[in-house]
Amino acid sequence: MFEPNEMQRDLIDAVSVFVKDLIGPTAEHDDAEERFRKEYIHQMGEQGLCGIATPEEYGGLGLGYLDYAMVLEEIAKVSASYAVSVAVTGLPQVILNQWGNEDQKQQWLPALAAGEHLGAFCLSEAGSGSDAASLKATAVREGDEYVLNGSKYWVTHGGYADVYMIMARTGGPGPRGISCFLVPGDAEGLSTGRKEQKMGMRASPTTEIVLDNVRIPAANLVGNEGDGFKVAMTALDSGRITIASIAVGTAQAALDVSGGYACERKQFGKPIIDFQGVGFMLADMATAIETSRMLVHKAAWLKDNGRDFSGTAAMAKVVATDAAMKVTTDAVQVMGGYGYCKDHPVERFMRDAKIMQIFEGTNQVQRIVISRHLKKAYTAPQG
Ligand SMILES: Cc1cc2nc3c(=O)[nH]c(=O)nc-3n(C[C@H](O)[C@H](O)[C@H](O)COP(=O)(O)OP(=O)(O)OC[C@H]3O[C@@H](n4cnc5c(N)ncnc54)[C@H](O)[C@@H]3O)c2cc1C
Repeated sequence: MFEPNEMQRDLIDAVSVFVKDLIGPTAEHDDAEERFRKEYIHQMGEQGLCGIATPEEYGGLGLGYLDYAMVLEEIAKVSASYAVSVAVTGLPQVILNQWGNEDQKQQWLPALAAGEHLGAFCLSEAGSGSDAASLKATAVREGDEYVLNGSKYWVTHGGYADVYMIMARTGGPGPRGISCFLVPGDAEGLSTGRKEQKMGMRASPTTEIVLDNVRIPAANLVGNEGDGFKVAMTALDSGRITIASIAVGTAQAALDVSGGYACERKQFGKPIIDFQGVGFMLADMATAIETSRMLVHKAAWLKDNGRDFSGTAAMAKVVATDAAMKVTTDAVQVMGGYGYCKDHPVERFMRDAKIMQIFEGTNQVQRIVISRHLKKAYTAPQG
């Protein structure tokens, strides 16, 4: 767990070279222009990077979350936007692996795992973010079909996805009234609403998705009616590991750039790393990254070994994303005015880091998850 094995080392090296060549040359331009290139997902898919944890029989690599975490870290060092793309197109796969029936797995998984299809996960709405169980989009059964209406907010891959995993209400209020549906991107009545103008993660498209009498086969229900909230939460438990991995990659890239700069930049006749104020800042950054990585890897290891990982994944998300925000901010500080300007990527890393504390459950919500685990542990009968 603490050091990559030989297979993981080879995987990390191969991914590092591949994404630097593929995404590196356009990363700054696409951030400035808010441009998403779907073809990059196809190309990463051809290398197996879009279906790392999906079983081989459904077209994935059949590896574990520890391997997945290491791959996402490498992609994020170049572009957090595309690392998020890989993680988000992974969410419908996690759901199908855990909740899908055999027909659904055969129909939907291979194209997602191959990066031929882009996936999206639609839980949030304008009025329900953290309080996801109060969502209002509806799905009404009519014969062999469901008819979906409503609007989903902040959909990563909105307008680009081939498969939308949508949570909608089939029953009464609260979590038990929610169900999960597979909706093709070209379904009649599904359209893209407003596109968000964002502070960071600007190469990742985020839009509203409008559902206007969208008819889908009843066979596209995932799990049973009323399972939707549980389905979404199991996806988010795993998603926390992926976002935390992306945070580690973003922070590491910021340290690599600012650490190298601090060794070269001279003021008062010596490299600025030799001033204790700068050297200690870099030392704290490195320590925070290493701590985060350990916790992310532990959460992934627990998941891979069939253990309860939910609380540890929430801790990993809090620690790694808070660290990424601080590390990237400090990287700008280490580089002074040059760090604040677009000649270097650290200002992009800092803007990208902020959303990691917010999406896949804000870091306040993660603390709710952690405190619930604590309450359960401390109120369990002592034996
Ligand atoms: C770039 C981007 C991409 C996204 N991608 C997706 C996606 O693909 N799919 C999707 O479904 N959603 C997506 N989201 C939505 C994201 O998950 C939500 O923004 C997030 O869950 C927070 O919800 P909210 O924005 O409504 O904030 P709110 O829930 O309104 O929270 C506002 C503040 O109140 C705090 N708060 C709320 N409740 C509590 C509480 N009980 N205790 C303590 N503090 C609390 C929050 O922590 C936060 O600080 C995305 C958002 C962004 C910006």
